[in-house]
Amino acid sequence: MAADSHCPYCALQCAMTLTPDPLAATPVTVAGRAFPTNRGGLCKKGWTSAELLRTPDRLTVPLVRRDGELRPATWDDALGMIAERLAALRREHGADAVGVFGGGGLTNEKAYVLGKFARLALGTSRIDYNGRFCMSSAAAAGNRAFGVDRGMPFPVTDLDDADTILLLGSNVAATMPPFLGHLSGARAAGGFIVVDPRRSQTAQLTADGAGIHLQPAPGTDLVLLLGLLHVVLADGLADTAYLEARTTGFDAVRRSVAGWWPERVQEHTGVPVGQLRVVARRLARGRGTFILTGRGVEQHVDGTDTATAAINLALALGLVGRPGSGYGTLTGQGNGQGGREHGQKCDQLPGYRKITDPAARAAVAAVWGVDPAVIPGPGVPAVELLGMLGQRPDGVRALLVHGSNVVVSGPDAGAIRSGLEALDLLVVCDFVLSETAELADVVLPVTQWAEEEGTMTNLEGRVLRRRRALDPPPGVRSELDILADLAHRLNAPSTWPTDPAEVFDELARASAGGVADYSGLSHAVLDAQAEIGEAAHWPYPAGSTGTPRLFLDRFGHDDGRARLVAVRARELTTGRRPGELTLITGRLLEHYQSGAQTRRVPELVTAQPEVRAELHPATAARLGIADGDRVVVGNSRGAVTARALLSTGMRLDTVFLPFHFAGRQCANLLTEAAVDPISAMPEFKRTAVTVRPAVEEEAA
Ligand code: SF4
Repeated sequence: MAADSHCPYCALQCAMTLTPDPLAATPVTVAGRAFPTNRGGLCKKGWTSAELLRTPDRLTVPLVRRDGELRPATWDDALGMIAERLAALRREHGADAVGVFGGGGLTNEKAYVLGKFARLALGTSRIDYNGRFCMSSAAAAGNRAFGVDRGMPFPVTDLDDADTILLLGSNVAATMPPFLGHLSGARAAGGFIVVDPRRSQTAQLTADGAGIHLQPAPGTDLVLLLGLLHVVLADGLADTAYLEARTTGFDAVRRSVAGWWPERVQEHTGVPVGQLRVVARRLARGRGTFILTGRGVEQHVDGTDTATAAINLALALGLVGRPGSGYGTLTGQGNGQGGREHGQKCDQLPGYRKITDPAARAAVAAVWGVDPAVIPGPGVPAVELLGMLGQRPDGVRALLVHGSNVVVSGPDAGAIRSGLEALDLLVVCDFVLSETAELADVVLPVTQWAEEEGTMTNLEGRVLRRRRALDPPPGVRSELDILADLAHRLNAPSTWPTDPAEVFDELARASAGGVADYSGLSHAVLDAQAEIGEAAHWPYPAGSTGTPRLFLDRFGHDDGRARLVAVRARELTTGRRPGELTLITGRLLEHYQSGAQTRRVPELVTAQPEVRAELHPATAARLGIADGDRVVVGNSRGAVTARALLSTGMRLDTVFLPFHFAGRQCANLLTEAAVDPISAMPEFKRTAVTVRPAVEEEAA
């Protein structure tokens, strides 16, 4: 029977219908389904997603390392061995010797159980997840300004009628093509403004009068935003009535941008004064104006401040909470939103509650049936956690990895690999032998999206049902089963349901009263709503009908006001030595995240088989590089061998690498584990590298 579900990849969560077909090459066929976010459309990744269900190297049996080799084992042996070793490590070195690393692609139910498992079954504070790499700066800025972090506090269809959209640091044409349909109104009105140091596929959509592409030097987005706000204030374009009625902190912000006159901004960013003025006026005079940020401006050591500067600009223009206008951030991973709400963050309990809040601890402990004192305090964020792997005496000696391929997607990937290799025990749950799973002591084969029930929360905070369309291969288990089994073997307190609907009900109870309150929802409610075309945007407390648009009347802070926060640009030297370029990393249309999934889909691999280093032709000529040559992009952390791709859309000082590839093609061998001091998000977008032609053996 056909099942209505959603794409396994990005946060747009395009709707699709999966129909089992014994005669087809894949066990289900995929059809796009009418839905507000995708209107029936899918991108290449979505269309080909079923191919991964029976990929030839699908894992269907647990693997345990013996004599240096991963060998098949029974579930009982594998789980028994894990439980025994975890218990021993805890006895000998304390609970924090065990770490847990989650993922933004896990269902809400799995993310919730993973957080509960870490706190109750392992007793460890050391849990965090790969969403720290993508969403944490925007989340920190949203929490600071609005008291709530929901990426888009409005339905994505609100964008349709806007005539002005400022999109900072997001290449949606490659990452989520069906989203482009929501930008057509702004493009038709000439108001599509893209900020990107690269003339990406999205930036190219500003051509022919559709809008403006601003191409600042990498790492100068904050200055650009300070400059835009300077022009808005200097030209009397701010919404002073809105600022007075709905915000605090404006005076300090006004003073903080006073020194960022356009000529100074041009000097630092390279964006011409004329463009700055045109954009500021357009933002102020649009009939419907949205400001949206993405990873390009957030994955920096000042990412939280940059997102804050974008919010300050939106607040000064009176956009936030005004119907037909707004501010939002584009979540990347499929459950990047829900995955950051239910407890797999190091400082968080379900419902987006702080683990340090006594009331939150008591509420969640009551649902779990434990004493609040049993729940550990806050742990450490992802990059710090990964830096502790294998460290003695107080580091992490065992790590459980769920829904993440950190050895490809983490910053300074070579150091992460060394840390993983130094562990006493590495357990990875995955459905293929990812590069991280290859290093594991135990690999547990898990279900894929079409084989399981659950929920995801998309980029608009809309809670969606994932439905099972077919049975998993024999031997494969859900992470809900695995964690419950391990919890029992570890004599954990509380109950450990394995039915996703039952887990969701518990999650809903645990979230009651939190910022992300799901207590009015259940699988049955979501199914009934889907039948009649209704949506469930959180907060959705019991008795409510959901909240498609936040902030219409008040913000999440106790006084109901949004907070403008004055932010400063960091030291404005490039930090580059002569001959160095700035590496920015990003995505391709054909691949998703670390590529562990999409590099196994033949059509996608044929289209994008390898990493390409994108360079301006003039830069390449200076370095003696021709289009298609093998080059080495390197720095003190590592070296990547790539084929050169010459493009006049690149700045002269910049090189671009997609981060989906592994081994010698892994862009994150070069990135640094430097993080934003507020969000702990790593700086993926501003790495010093050199580029040179590869010598013969490197090219081979
Ligand atoms: Fe839609 Fe994203 Fe899936 Fe593409 S990858 S089909 S844009 S959800």
